[in-house]
Amino acid sequence: MRIILFGPPGVGKGTQAKILSAKFTIPHISTGDMLREAVTNGTEIGKKAQSIMDAGKLVSDEIMIGIITEVVNSLKCKNGFILDGFPRTVPQAEALDTVLLKLNRPIDAVISMETSENEIIERLSKRLTCSNCNSIFNLQADTLTDPLICPKCGGRLFQREDDKPETIHKRMKVYLESTSPVKQYYSRTGLLQTVNGTGDVDQITKNILEHLNHK
Ligand code: AMP
Repeated sequence: MRIILFGPPGVGKGTQAKILSAKFTIPHISTGDMLREAVTNGTEIGKKAQSIMDAGKLVSDEIMIGIITEVVNSLKCKNGFILDGFPRTVPQAEALDTVLLKLNRPIDAVISMETSENEIIERLSKRLTCSNCNSIFNLQADTLTDPLICPKCGGRLFQREDDKPETIHKRMKVYLESTSPVKQYYSRTGLLQTVNGTGDVDQITKNILEHLNHK
């Protein structure tokens, strides 16, 4: 199963990707998580990416295509994958198709998760991320006994630099300008399916599974 979870920042791609990854035992490939790890580890890519990410802009297609080519060719993706945060531009989508064509392993489904801009801004501004296990929480919706401690692993919860209000607006603009055309790209290939990203997490999972024909 090779799935792309598509949609604006904060729509819930990461949350759903983790659930689907566990259900289908296929890796959750989040390019954002990979870049954050590169920043933490101080790699060359991390050094180039940090200021771009903090500003809510997109890391170059060249870097991103290099990263994704390596990962989809790796052994861990042999039986499938869930992409979260890639592709974010039409050239990235085209490059992914080329790589997968060579492997003879095409994408099975592109799930576009959708919600209102107000909901996104509201969610991102209250989002907390665990520095250890990458779990995502919402300051308002989740019952956290300590807003600084991850209830799953005890790691430190933090607000991502790019989840701060001034950067959220920039990211939405980038999404509309550079990323939303990717939706038309997949719509033309007949792979695109749309899911309402508002409401209960379990219900959203059920809706995605229905689209994937697994109940
Ligand atoms: P995310 O965690 O998916 O919201 O990604 C965080 C940030 O990483 C984005 O705002 C971009 O700066 C960068 N990023 C992640 N994936 C990509 C991608 N496919 N293309 C370009 N930049 C990306």
